[in-house]
Amino acid sequence: MIAHVPMSAPEILREDIEAVTFVLRSGTLSLGPATEAFERAVADYVGVKHAVAVNSGTSGLHLCVRAAGLGDGDEVITSPFSFVASANCMLYERAVPVFADIEEETLGLDPECVAAAITPRTRGVLPVHVFGQPVALDQHLAICRQHGLVMIEDACEALGAEYHGKRVGGFGHSACFSFYPNKQITTGEGAVVVTGDDATAAALRSMRNQGRGAMGAWLEHEVLGFNYRMTEMSAALGLSQLRRIDTVLARRSEAAARYSAALARLDGIKLIEPAASTTRLSWFAAIARLDPAVDRDRVILALAERGIPARAYFSPLHLQPLYRERFGFTGGEFPVTERVARSTIALPFFTAISDEQIDRVFAALREILACA
Ligand SMILES: *Cc1c(COP(=O)(O)O)cnc(C)c1O
Repeated sequence: MIAHVPMSAPEILREDIEAVTFVLRSGTLSLGPATEAFERAVADYVGVKHAVAVNSGTSGLHLCVRAAGLGDGDEVITSPFSFVASANCMLYERAVPVFADIEEETLGLDPECVAAAITPRTRGVLPVHVFGQPVALDQHLAICRQHGLVMIEDACEALGAEYHGKRVGGFGHSACFSFYPNKQITTGEGAVVVTGDDATAAALRSMRNQGRGAMGAWLEHEVLGFNYRMTEMSAALGLSQLRRIDTVLARRSEAAARYSAALARLDGIKLIEPAASTTRLSWFAAIARLDPAVDRDRVILALAERGIPARAYFSPLHLQPLYRERFGFTGGEFPVTERVARSTIALPFFTAISDEQIDRVFAALREILACA
């Protein structure tokens, strides 16, 4: 029997279960005190004035795009090295996601590629802080200022990440943090959108709640809205998890350091590391880069044979069937993204991963890479 190491696992402690149970007994399951408290706590943690809880990161990004007034034919420059929601959120509003290539250091949007992709129809930039690593924010902000573009941060993987000492999420028009079960902390399904702007916050609140006004009657709908509300159970879970965010991020950092030291003893593989501008990488996943000579897919198969799950992460967005079909991409358009995507591997990683589990992944990799 081969012992199994999970790819990812939420950390649910007794205090989390008690917090959710408390809500269930209270009788208020939506739009109540837990949601308000969770929103306040996220706003304070990120250091942004307003936070609006929603039912997923995908919903949150959609609302950011709408609240920024991006629509029909507006071009928004974004990264092809991401999860599909960061580009789909433009399609929902008939805006056009325009991909620009990434840089090796942060694996996020390359400012020079963004500048080169600007046209008279460009209205926004949506950088993604992939794997908890902040993008080159100063450069992106300068470009946005120069061309009058809005910036929306996809911070879904980056709660607690710091760029030159400042937490991500407060740099642009708005930002979204996801709390899906594989993220640093979870609400089951759920996310929080943050913004420093009062009117944007009011619009986000109204749109997530069927377009209702702040003071209006329950059956009065002022604008086109959605049902993107977070449940009270989710908010209570999120608040309970956020209370121990420092411990969670420290533990994930330790696990990453153990992986990094172990992989440094092997040829052909290396864990990603903080960029020069990253004062805190918020470890979302254990992402390693393989030498071009190593067959990544063979490594994934060989790990699976040893009971260890691993993933090719990400598969570039422009090469997804939906984007190939809509925009005619065939490959070769974004060479850095394509090269990085071919060489990355996500190893098992979660807050409660034990040293012994990491050592088992290492032992398997040592065996596999020795005969690669
Ligand atoms: C998780 C994630 C999302 C979407 O979040 P959901 O809560 O799963 O809808 C968006 N962008 C990135 C980069 C993500 O990792």
